[in-house]
Amino acid sequence: MITEIQQPDIEQLFLTVNLRVTFARLFIANKLFKPITPFHFTIENLVKDLRNEDTKISLATVYNVINDFNEAGLLQRIDRVGNGAAIYDTDPDPHAHFFNVSTGNLTNIKNFEMPHLPPVTPPIGTRIIGMDIILRIQGGSKN
Ligand SMILES: [Zn+2]
Repeated sequence: MITEIQQPDIEQLFLTVNLRVTFARLFIANKLFKPITPFHFTIENLVKDLRNEDTKISLATVYNVINDFNEAGLLQRIDRVGNGAAIYDTDPDPHAHFFNVSTGNLTNIKNFEMPHLPPVTPPIGTRIIGMDIILRIQGGSKN
């Protein structure tokens, strides 16, 4: 079953996370949240995609919008995988990933239940904001 998120739904989504509706946010949200299956992307991929649509959204705006979505909890940012740029995930719920060091692909690990955070005390003055599980794999082909 395929259902699409309609524009009013995206505006409603923005409202629930206190994001003001702007053209750039709406445009990018349509790209990111309309596909029914969550996916992973880099800002570079997204910018290429946007360029194909001949939009006038600047690179700086794309960075700002993605940062806003990340801070609002609509996306999750996965830092420092391989040597590359951060990868963003349109599924903000905690889940584990495979990172293929040969291809640079990040994929979800299916049927893996995230463990509870072990009882650790973060350094004084800091707080834990998340836990990533990324299993590095190698081999396979790019496609
Ligand atoms: Zn994921």
